[in-house]
Amino acid sequence: KAKNKGRNSQAIFQEDMRTHSVSQFQLEMDLRDAGEDQQFQLYYQPILDLNIGKIAGFEALIRWQHPNRGLVPPIEFIEIAEDTGMILAMGEWILKEACSQVQQWQQQFPQQPPLFIGVNLSSRQFLQPNLATTIANIVHHYRLDPRGLKLELTESVAMNDVDSAIQQLTYLKDEGLHISLDDFGTGYSSLSYLHRLPIDSLKIDKSFVDRMETNQENENIVGTIVTLAQRLNLDIVAEGVETIDQARLLKGLQCQYAQGYYFSKPVPRNQATKLLSQNKIWQIDDV
Ligand code: C2E
Ligand code: MG
Ligand code: MG
Ligand code: MG
Repeated sequence: KAKNKGRNSQAIFQEDMRTHSVSQFQLEMDLRDAGEDQQFQLYYQPILDLNIGKIAGFEALIRWQHPNRGLVPPIEFIEIAEDTGMILAMGEWILKEACSQVQQWQQQFPQQPPLFIGVNLSSRQFLQPNLATTIANIVHHYRLDPRGLKLELTESVAMNDVDSAIQQLTYLKDEGLHISLDDFGTGYSSLSYLHRLPIDSLKIDKSFVDRMETNQENENIVGTIVTLAQRLNLDIVAEGVETIDQARLLKGLQCQYAQGYYFSKPVPRNQATKLLSQNKIWQIDDV
C-alpha cells in the first residue's frame, strides 16, 4: 500500500510539474502578444515630501491586464521577460511612457523642484552597453527636465558588475538624471561600494518600515540608515508606509520622502492626475 501511495504522489508531482511548466510556457507566449495588444499599463504611486505633506513625484509600476487572467502582478512576469529578453523592448516602452507622462505633469503642475518619476530598471536592462545613451535619447526626445527622471535599481543589479555600473551611472548622472538604490538594506552591498557608486538616493525597504512601530531596535535601524544617507549627502525615501504612525516616526527621524498605501496605492494615470489637481496636503505631526 505504501508503495502505491509513493507512486501516486510521484505521479501527482510530475503532473504538477507539467501543469506548472505548461502555464509558465503559456504565460510566456501570452507575454509575447501583450505589448502589441497594448495590455501593459503604467500605474503611478505618489511619493510624498513629508516636510510639506505634498506629492513630490511618483514611482511608475508596470501592470499587465491579461485578457483572461485579469491583472497579473509584475513579480509573475518580470522574470520571464528578463529570461526571454523581452524586458528590453518592454523597458524601453516603460521609459518612454513614464517620461512623456511626467513631462505632461510638469507642464500642468509646475512646482519647485519639478515633479519626478521613478522608473525601475532590471538587471538585464542594466547590462545593455547602450542603456545610458538610450535613456539619454528618450529624455531629450520628450524634452524632459532630466532631474525629473529617477532611475531605480536594486543593490544586486548594481553589484553585478560594479565597474560597469559605475561607468553607466556616471554617464547618466552627467546627463543630469537621478539614481536611486531600491530596496536598500535587503541586498549585500558593502559600504565601500555604496560610497563608490554615483547614486543620489536610498529607498529604505518596506521590511524595515513594517517593523518600526513594534520594536525600538528597528526604529533605530531606520534612523541609522537615514543618518547614513545624510552623511553621504543622499536623499532618503521610505517604502511601504501603511500607517500614520509610521509616517510620523519617519518624519521625526528626518526621513524626507515616503511612499506607501497609507498615502495611496499605485493608481492609473487619470487618478494620479486627479490627485495632483486636488493638491492635497497630508497632515503629519512628527513625534
Ligand atoms: P519595487 O520597485 O520595490 O516597488 C514597490 C512595490 O511595493 C510595488 O509593488 C508597490 O505596489 C508595492 N507597495 C508600495 N507601497 C506599498 C505598501 O504600503 N504596502 C505594500 N504591501 N506594498 C506596497 P509592485 O507594483 O507589485 O512591484 C513589485 C516589484 O516589481 C517592484 O518592486 C519592482 O522590482 C518590479 N517592477 C514593477 N514595475 C516594474 C517596471 O516597470 N520595470 C521593472 N524592471 N520592474 C518593475
Ligand atoms: Mg522601485
Ligand atoms: Mg522598492
Ligand atoms: Mg521592494
